[in-house]
Amino acid sequence: MPDLNPARDGTAFTVRPHASPVSAEQRAELLRDPGFGRVFTDHMAVIDYTEGRGWHDARIEARAPVLMDPASAVLHYAQEIFEGLKAYATPDGGATLFRPDQNALRFARSAERLAMPPLPNDLFVDSLQQLIRVDRDWIPTVAGGSLYLRPFMFASEVFLGVRPSKQYLYMVIASPVGSYFKGGAKPVTVWVSQDYTRAAPGGTGEAKCGGNYAASLAAQAEASRHGCEQVVFLDAAERRWVEELGGMNIFFVMDDGTLVTPPLGTILPGITRDSLIAMAQREGITVRQEPYSIDQWRADAASGRLREVFACGTAAVITPIGTVRTTEGEFIMPGSGATQGITERLRRTLTDMQRGSGPDPFGWVH
Ligand code: PMP
Repeated sequence: MPDLNPARDGTAFTVRPHASPVSAEQRAELLRDPGFGRVFTDHMAVIDYTEGRGWHDARIEARAPVLMDPASAVLHYAQEIFEGLKAYATPDGGATLFRPDQNALRFARSAERLAMPPLPNDLFVDSLQQLIRVDRDWIPTVAGGSLYLRPFMFASEVFLGVRPSKQYLYMVIASPVGSYFKGGAKPVTVWVSQDYTRAAPGGTGEAKCGGNYAASLAAQAEASRHGCEQVVFLDAAERRWVEELGGMNIFFVMDDGTLVTPPLGTILPGITRDSLIAMAQREGITVRQEPYSIDQWRADAASGRLREVFACGTAAVITPIGTVRTTEGEFIMPGSGATQGITERLRRTLTDMQRGSGPDPFGWVH
């Protein structure tokens, strides 16, 4: 196992402020209803990697297009990884991040799987802090708003051979986002894909690489055609075990109050998933990380053994699942979305913690 957190070699950020940033009035207009992923801040963080030299030229500069040669390796063999996390504004003019060290670790693990050089964890966290420092005014202050941070890295060497690139570009861009759910967390309808799978043992399911998402789009389109908002993937071998959604992990709340969630291995190790497991266990709730089949889901929904089902991830935090559509018909989870349920309680505890307005017994808020 390579060292996932090699020593930082004195890489310090140079800050080159934008010569003509967006005016305060324009920004206020853009922040009124930013939606998701369409509005971006003035700056970006950039760090270069060159084989033999390591990470160098860490900088904050004006956000601008990246000039790429058509033979840049990423355009051909998809050596690319990314992360996603949110910064929240605090009333004192500061900002908080939630467990950025965990995103740093996952980024390093994704890099290892894609045969890329790991970025030192403290350099990853520093890049976020430096960018937030210059673009702090872009964090929406509306209820439910946040600044979505997108760190990513790609193979930039100009070479068509199939082998790991010798050059990479690491960047962080930031996008103000509004409240994901305008009227609170509404239960979603999901489509259980029988035709497509997301990951196989030994594959890249555990890594956050762009290719995984390219491969999920046809399944997501199939879900949309069936009137569903999200796709649920089953395991690749038996098409029987529930794995995760296109961009979220999944939890089942049983009638005895225990939680069941699929084990790690081929799913993305979600930071929200990990946080909810720790929070639930601290409350004395039993959490079982074990395989759960689609047939069991249907049977438990019918018998009433299953009380609530929810998906979780950075974007929407927690989303109750209401209706499950499969090739063999649909079934409904009547308890999902209940305002007194475990789902809603966990959602509130986690969002309060992330925004710095609730207790943080684990010291997760940065
Ligand atoms: N699964 C997939 C496939 C995802 O893309 C995400 C979002 N990163 C998650 C789960 C949830 O991970 P996290 O809680 O770290 O956002």
